[in-house]
Amino acid sequence: MAAKKNTKKQTKTTQFKNWIGGKWAVPHTRKTFENRNPADTSDLVGTFPASGPQDVDDAVVAAKEAFQTWRLVPAPKRAEILYRTGELLAERKEQYAHDMTREMGKVLEETRGDVQEAIDTAFYMAGEGRRLFGHTTPSELQSKFAMSVRMPVGVCGMIAPWNFPMAIPSWKLFPALVCGNTCVIKPAEDTPLSTYNLVQTLVDAGLPKGVVNIVAGFGPDAGAPLVEHPDVDAISFTGSSEVGRMVGQTAAAHFKPCSLEMGGKNAMIVMEDANLELAVEGALWGAFGTTGQRCTATSRILLHKKIAKQFTARLVERTEKLRVGNGLVQGVQVGPQVNAQQIETSERYVAIALAEGANLLAGGKRLKGKAHAEGHFFAPTIFAGVKPGMRIAQEEVFGPVVALLQFDSFEQAIEIANGISYGLSTSIYTRDVNRAYRAMRDLEAGITYVNAPTIGAEVHLPFGGVKQTGNGHREGGTGALDFYTTWKSVYVDYSDRLQRAQIDTGE
Ligand code: NAD
Repeated sequence: MAAKKNTKKQTKTTQFKNWIGGKWAVPHTRKTFENRNPADTSDLVGTFPASGPQDVDDAVVAAKEAFQTWRLVPAPKRAEILYRTGELLAERKEQYAHDMTREMGKVLEETRGDVQEAIDTAFYMAGEGRRLFGHTTPSELQSKFAMSVRMPVGVCGMIAPWNFPMAIPSWKLFPALVCGNTCVIKPAEDTPLSTYNLVQTLVDAGLPKGVVNIVAGFGPDAGAPLVEHPDVDAISFTGSSEVGRMVGQTAAAHFKPCSLEMGGKNAMIVMEDANLELAVEGALWGAFGTTGQRCTATSRILLHKKIAKQFTARLVERTEKLRVGNGLVQGVQVGPQVNAQQIETSERYVAIALAEGANLLAGGKRLKGKAHAEGHFFAPTIFAGVKPGMRIAQEEVFGPVVALLQFDSFEQAIEIANGISYGLSTSIYTRDVNRAYRAMRDLEAGITYVNAPTIGAEVHLPFGGVKQTGNGHREGGTGALDFYTTWKSVYVDYSDRLQRAQIDTGE
């Protein structure tokens, strides 16, 4: 990945290798997998290495070696590479967004947003190069100085999902880098190209060899060895709660810091005093944006009984008008699902919801017409009459399927919203400031929006959830710095005599 002019060539080349120690490396396994366009499966985006433990080991060795020099580069100098990366990403935004729509499916407007998130993260984290603040504090002893400083953790292993193919890798890589760590990243098998584009940009911006390495492949073969590797000092994982649990258990067995960002079943509450047209607009975007494949997707809409009928009629009317198709086509609002399994999951949950007695108001099936014949398209789906205990109200579908529930009182709405195992995002539509503040306090989630849907995080605020969504860490904002650094407390005694804390009290 040496020259900037290579970028175009790389994205058009169909055969990718691993990127290890500043060189392209054929996987030891000699196996590859295909990355196909979910809107048109006859379109092969590229083939990528199906790596195994030996490839992971090579990448970790390279990252470990690079750490010895990278950690000594002053943070403001490390940050200069991030600034340049942000500038280059801005220049390449259109091309990278196009590549992303082709491999992941979401519409071009949204993939531009995904690249923009990486740009924003680059500039935000570059700013940290001149902050990375620690603390100074008085010592209890005379002529003694006390401070705490942030130290890099070492080699960070990163495992990414497919739904934000550039934004999520940037949330992991950029704070890790500015803090002085080196990285091995395993992209999601559905969307590796966007990680390659991101790392290509870092390299073009001057990142030294070995500081970031890519090992592509499947979870059990390439992800698990990364988590288990003794020279990987920290693991950052984003994905399903099911896989996150395994990753967390393995990391715990090795006493490794491990950040887990996982699923959600996010509720939007619509009170009787809400601006209904605004709430419908928000529901459409929250439930069907990114084809419902966001961890923060609005997958439950809790409606006050007084406005439920009116809201539902309007939502169904607007949903049926959504244009579903290839995200590269102008005017399309909802892209395909990312792969065949995801569409099967949507179908399965439609069957489950019907069996549970929910009332199907829109969608509920694959789209098969001429425009949809070659891809994984699912009609935006609405279920009404959903009860809080039903599986469709409890489990993450990760597709364009939304459940409508009803409530009588604010208290009941909060109880239903909180009555799930996840705790990522929540929202309330109301004009009552007291209720808005009570919701901010009482909703059990890492994120609460007022008069906006459950999606729309900005990069300088902490991102993550409670309960089975996360294990207490945060990406974005200063939360990320806390994960990618470890605190060192330093005491400097300039008294020239032995002074004993807690003992030489001066009494
Ligand atoms: P997934 O858990 O199937 O895969 C995530 C990553 O883990 C992939 O790179 C995969 O290859 C890897 N993996 C799979 N098995 C592994 C194993 N045994 N060991 C190590 N790695 C393994 O999730 P997905 O389908 O890619 O993404 C969808 C999920 O991600 C949803 O549940 C969604 O809510 C969640 N998500 C959460 C956030 C968040 O920040 N909270 C953001 C985006 C997506």
